[in-house]
Amino acid sequence: MSHHPYRTFRTTVARITPLSPHFTRITLCGDELAHFGTDGLDQRIKLIIPFADGAVTDVGQFDEAQSMTEWYRRWRALPDAQRNPIRTYTIRSPRPREREIDVDFVLHGTDGPASAWATSAQIGDPLCVVGPDARSSEQGGGIEWRPGAARSLLIAGDETATPAICSIVESLEADAVGDVCIEVPTEADALELRAPAGVRVRWLARGGAAHGVRLSAAVHEWGRQRAADRHPSAAPVAFDDPSADEVLWEVPDAVDGGEYAWLAGEAGTITALRRHLVRDLGIDRRSVAFMGYWREGRAEAS
Ligand SMILES: Cc1cc2nc3c(=O)[nH]c(=O)nc-3n(C[C@H](O)[C@H](O)[C@H](O)COP(=O)(O)OP(=O)(O)OC[C@H]3O[C@@H](n4cnc5c(N)ncnc54)[C@H](O)[C@@H]3O)c2cc1C
Repeated sequence: MSHHPYRTFRTTVARITPLSPHFTRITLCGDELAHFGTDGLDQRIKLIIPFADGAVTDVGQFDEAQSMTEWYRRWRALPDAQRNPIRTYTIRSPRPREREIDVDFVLHGTDGPASAWATSAQIGDPLCVVGPDARSSEQGGGIEWRPGAARSLLIAGDETATPAICSIVESLEADAVGDVCIEVPTEADALELRAPAGVRVRWLARGGAAHGVRLSAAVHEWGRQRAADRHPSAAPVAFDDPSADEVLWEVPDAVDGGEYAWLAGEAGTITALRRHLVRDLGIDRRSVAFMGYWREGRAEAS
């Protein structure tokens, strides 16, 4: 039997590990996870959030013969009351041999169904995870970290991008060189992260500041340092991008050598930072991946 690149895994909560005031790691287990794809990095997954009574509407997502496109169409056609919320997360750690995966949740309150679910999760609670199937011969996608042969890295994001950033940083070669800026709600949310000697990791506690202010300041500072150190004559380029307010996701492959920037987090902040890198600093837009992971004031449109 041929397998689709993505499938729905039936899992239950095995462990709940609070990591910091705003991060909780939920370890999910289930026999089907023996086939979970192990690509790592910023591999994204979808979580089908159960209703309060635990119900999940069956639209064919458990039928391995059906592709995600097929059941997703049926799911979209459901009336609101029957359509379980679907949210996007990152695999922090896949362990198919142990039939386990870790997902690190940002606890941002109980307005959003995913954060609400994570806040009140109990051992044994079920959760459906849509992720890569290791048995498929097709590439499933969902990994956007594509630095190519870039020698100098900038990785910047907020708490929602922290699981992806941690995973990426832990995978870097020992001779990697770059800067990592991570904005988190409080100082106590800075997590332990092993990075190569040439990679500077800065955790930026938001404190009372508005979302994105500390991250933006750090990236602007990085830009000034870059100009002073290595690119004294880099000229700003005209960057007329009429769709900039609409485009929230662009993940080109890095141009060979040179620099590569990976930016993810709140859409408004990340879009502005991408504009700064490309328009003000003159960095080739093909070397800047940016991903609006969520949008302030809006639920994820799924
Ligand atoms: C590729 C990708 C990978 C992601 N990986 C992770 C991950 O590993 N861990 C993780 O926690 N998140 C991750 N996110 C972000 C997550 O999908 C969003 O935060 C999502 O909106 C959470 O769903 P929800 O049901 O809790 O809130 P929603 O119902 O989507 O939103 C409800 C309200 O909460 C606001 N909101 C959403 N997220 C936040 C937040 N973090 N802080 C403050 N307000 C917020 C919204 O603006 C909205 O007003 C990822 C997103 C993408 C696209």
